[in-house]
Amino acid sequence: MLSNSLRDRDIASQLHPQTNLSLHEKTGPVVMASGQGVEITDTNGKTYIEGMSGLWCTALGLSESRLAEAATRQMGVLPYYQNFAHRATEPGIQLAETLLEIAPVPMSKVLFQSSGSEANDTAIKLVWYHFAAQGRPEKRKIIGRNRGYHGTSIASASITGLPHLHRDFHLPLPNFLHVTCPHFYREGKPDETEEQFSTRLANELDALIIAEGPDTVAAFFAEPAMGTGGAVMPPKGYFEKIQKVLKKHEVLLIADEVITGFGRTGNWWGCQTFGVEPDMITCAKALTAAYMPLSALLISEPVYQSMKAQSEKIGVFGHGYTYGAHPVACAVANEALRIYEEDGIIAGVAAKGAQLGGLLTPLADHPLVGEVRGTGLMWGIEIVADKVTRAPFDPARAIPAKVQEAAFAQGLVCRALGSAIAIAPPLVIRPDQIDAVHKRFSTALDQIADELGIL
Ligand code: PMP
Repeated sequence: MLSNSLRDRDIASQLHPQTNLSLHEKTGPVVMASGQGVEITDTNGKTYIEGMSGLWCTALGLSESRLAEAATRQMGVLPYYQNFAHRATEPGIQLAETLLEIAPVPMSKVLFQSSGSEANDTAIKLVWYHFAAQGRPEKRKIIGRNRGYHGTSIASASITGLPHLHRDFHLPLPNFLHVTCPHFYREGKPDETEEQFSTRLANELDALIIAEGPDTVAAFFAEPAMGTGGAVMPPKGYFEKIQKVLKKHEVLLIADEVITGFGRTGNWWGCQTFGVEPDMITCAKALTAAYMPLSALLISEPVYQSMKAQSEKIGVFGHGYTYGAHPVACAVANEALRIYEEDGIIAGVAAKGAQLGGLLTPLADHPLVGEVRGTGLMWGIEIVADKVTRAPFDPARAIPAKVQEAAFAQGLVCRALGSAIAIAPPLVIRPDQIDAVHKRFSTALDQIADELGIL
C-alpha cells in the first residue's frame, strides 16, 4: 500500500532525469528503501546486488558507518563554512593536501565543487583564464570525444559526445569539437591493429587542430576509460600518441577521473592504469564514496602560476560555488580516502577485477555478445545482433535495456549504455557476490536470447 502511494506521489510530483517521462507515468518508479553493503532493497522488500555502484559512485557500499560518523562529527563542530575571500576550514585543507599527495602526476592546487559537471565546467573556465593570462584569449576551443561523458551542465554537456544529450538543447555550444571514439571494436578497421587504430586517431586529432588553427584550440578532455559511452577501454598506445599531438600544439589535457578516480581500474587513478599525464584532473563520485556530493579539480603548477599572474593584473579570481569545499563533504572524503588506504580497498581491486573479468570474459561466446572488455571493477559487455558483422540491434528494439531489465528481475542492477551493458560493482564486493553477479547476468542474457529465439 505504502509503495503504491509513493508511486503515485512520485508520478505526480517528481521529474526524473534520463527517463522517458511518458513511460514513467505508466510504470512509476522502483522506490529504494535501504542499503546494506553492496545490496539495495526496494519498498516491496526485494533485494538486488547494486552492480553499478549507483551511478559508478558508491565504492564503499551503502552501510559504511565510518562515513556516517565522520559526517555527524563535522556537523556537530562546523556544519558549514565557505571558502571565498581568504576563508578556509580544516577538512578542506586536509583533503586538498591528501589529493596533492596521491595525485598521479605532480599537481599544484585543488579547487572544490559539488558535482562532476561543475568540476568540468570549472576546468573549462580555468583553461580559458590560463590562456587569457598568457595574452592568448583566442585559444579557447575545447575538444571532446564521441561517446565521452563529462556532465550535464551546459558546458560539460557540450564536451560530452552523446547525441541524445545534445538533441533539443541546442548543444554543443559553439567552439566545442569532437573526435572519433577510441573504441577499437566499433571504430577499428578490419585490417587495423590496435596500435594502428591509435595512430589513426592521433593523426585525426592533429589534422583537426591544424585545420582549426592551433592558436584557437585550448584543451582536450578525456576519461581515462570511458564510462557512460559503454565502458570503453583505450586501445594500445592511444594516450601516448594523443599526448604527443597535444604537446606539439600546446593544447592542455584534462583527465576526467570522475568515474575512474579512487580505485575503479585497479589503481588510485585511471591515469596510472592507462599512462595519462594530464595538466588538470577532475574527480568526484568515489571521492566521498557518494555519501556526500563533492568534486575536486586539480591543476598543475604552470596553470596555477598563470592564474596567479592574472589575478595580480586584474584582481580577484572571479569564480566560486557556495558549497565549494563544504566541510561535511570534505570530512567524509577524508574518511573515505583513509578507508581506501587503511583497509586495502584499492589494493584489493586487482584480484576482484581478475575474478569478475575471468567470469565475464567467456560470455564473449554467447550468441548475444560481441565483446567483453574492462579492467578492475569496470566492465562492458557489447550486445550484438550479428557476431560476424558486429552489427548492433536496431536501437528501437532496446535489446540491451531488455537484458538490463531481465537482470534486475534476477536481483542484479547493471546498466544498458548504447549497445553495451556496464557492470561496475562497489569496490567492497565479496567474491561470493561477484559469483552471484555473473550468475544473474548470464541467466538474464540466456533469457533474452531465448525470447529472441537464438539460443
Ligand atoms: N564525468 C564523468 C566521466 C561522469 O561519469 C560523470 C557522471 N556520470 C560526470 C562527469 C558528471 O558528474 P555529475 O553527475 O556529478 O555532475
